[in-house]
Amino acid sequence: MSTAASTVERPSRARIIADLQALLGDAGLLHLPEDLHPYECDGLSAYRQLPLAVALPETVEQVRAVLGYASRHAIPVVARGAGTGLSGGALPHTEGILLSLAKFNRILDIDPRNRTARVQPGVRNLAISEAAKPYGLYYAPDPSSQIACSIGGNVAENSGGVHCLKYGLTVHNLVELEILTIDGERLRIGNAAPDAPGYDLLALMTGSEGMLGVITEVTVKLLPIPERAQVILAAFDDVARAGHAVGAIIAAGIIPAGLEMMDRLAIRAAEDFVHAGYPEVEAILLCELDGTNEEVSEHISQVRRLLQTHGAVEVRTATDEAERARFWQGRKAAFPAVGRISPDYYCMDGTIPRSRLAEVLTRIGELSREYDLAVANVFHAGDGNLHPLILYDANNPGELERTEEFGGRILELCVEVGGTITGEHGVGMEKIDQMCVQFRPLELAQFHAIKAAFDPAGLLNPGKAVPTLHRCAEFGAMHVHQGQLPHPELERF
Ligand SMILES: Cc1cc2nc3c(=O)[nH]c(=O)nc-3n(C[C@H](O)[C@H](O)[C@H](O)COP(=O)(O)OP(=O)(O)OC[C@H]3O[C@@H](n4cnc5c(N)ncnc54)[C@H](O)[C@@H]3O)c2cc1C
Repeated sequence: MSTAASTVERPSRARIIADLQALLGDAGLLHLPEDLHPYECDGLSAYRQLPLAVALPETVEQVRAVLGYASRHAIPVVARGAGTGLSGGALPHTEGILLSLAKFNRILDIDPRNRTARVQPGVRNLAISEAAKPYGLYYAPDPSSQIACSIGGNVAENSGGVHCLKYGLTVHNLVELEILTIDGERLRIGNAAPDAPGYDLLALMTGSEGMLGVITEVTVKLLPIPERAQVILAAFDDVARAGHAVGAIIAAGIIPAGLEMMDRLAIRAAEDFVHAGYPEVEAILLCELDGTNEEVSEHISQVRRLLQTHGAVEVRTATDEAERARFWQGRKAAFPAVGRISPDYYCMDGTIPRSRLAEVLTRIGELSREYDLAVANVFHAGDGNLHPLILYDANNPGELERTEEFGGRILELCVEVGGTITGEHGVGMEKIDQMCVQFRPLELAQFHAIKAAFDPAGLLNPGKAVPTLHRCAEFGAMHVHQGQLPHPELERF
């Protein structure tokens, strides 16, 4: 994206800090290096840089004032929720303001009749379900980071989670958003009525990674807490067989509330960490069924049969809530568990057609040997959303670069088999080059046009999510014939 308009004279750093202090008060601005360090990265800690300052507004008027100031002086702004993002989306801009929405943490309204919750963007994902519980309701999308991540970040990343196979991603569970554009214009998009008129701006904004506007309020759908939920753990001595079992369950017309898979390395790490009682096998599937009592009983026996006919060496059904929680505990703690067995790991995220699961896992295994880097696979199998965790040691010279290249090859493999480079983690900085593989120049040009319609000077989260055509050419993912980039008529950003 183009960066700040060059004609605007930029105030000095000291001036910017003094001006922002005047807008936000001393408590609303951090600018000393020691205060800035906690914000130097998101969950993708391989990339770090300090922002010019961190703004901590408390009111929408303050957000508007910060955006207006940034817009007048051509200063980049990066919005930040809880900073749990895994693609470097909230990585600060060294010359820019990091706009934290952490103080927007109030649940504004729970409406049990309409089954909605209106919340501020800094509210934690899990806090919504906790607040809705007394009404017998919950918010379905459940990223594994749900105890920490914010709903604003979930909207910006179109986050998923275990429940999303059955209940949809964040985008399917939203009713309305309030956003501020970089010029401080306040927009309400979406509608309480089932079919909002006009273009679907709600969908456009969901997954827009802080590039189009700052989300200041979110109204989400709530669902009734199911009468019963029960989980089955199936063990396999072959990863491919587990992959085929996933396809068989869905093909049988059963949509589980969650269908997750872990491979040997992930199982061992999780078991050593939380002692979930996992067997020592090549792969396990966790399949949760929810609904009415009758429905769950019927689905449990159907799924057990399917798993057995597809080669499961052991099938266990959790018999009570404690056992169900224990089965899930290992899966939910898998990322930190892998963090205990390797100095560093790099979490990839791509989606593939479920039918290619077994083949892709086999090819990831081959790449693992080629790059001499171990991989632990733990993922949303039902969605075809892979999370290969590449284990590496950043202290070994060149190992991070090898890991990044390996990660890039996995994403390209996802595209090759008809999938996508993002499952649920967004593009951010991490996957920006693979956007050149996923999209053609004209498609990227359309993305730039949409960005320009909301943010003509390219001040919101510059350098993220949508690559310039030059970047694609440099990455080698665009054919440059005799030194001529394709589509010379298009503006080069
Ligand atoms: C252990 C672990 C497990 C995870 N599991 C999952 C998972 O199962 N599913 C999943 O989808 N993700 C998962 N994630 C990734 C991450 O939690 C999600 O992407 C989450 O939505 C990020 O929310 P956040 O509040 O931390 O956003 P941040 O990291 O702060 O920001 C993410 C992006 O959103 C933008 N943004 C944040 N707030 C706003 C706002 N108010 N307005 C405009 N833009 C904004 C930022 O600019 C940035 O581009 C996991 C992360 C970790 C660390």
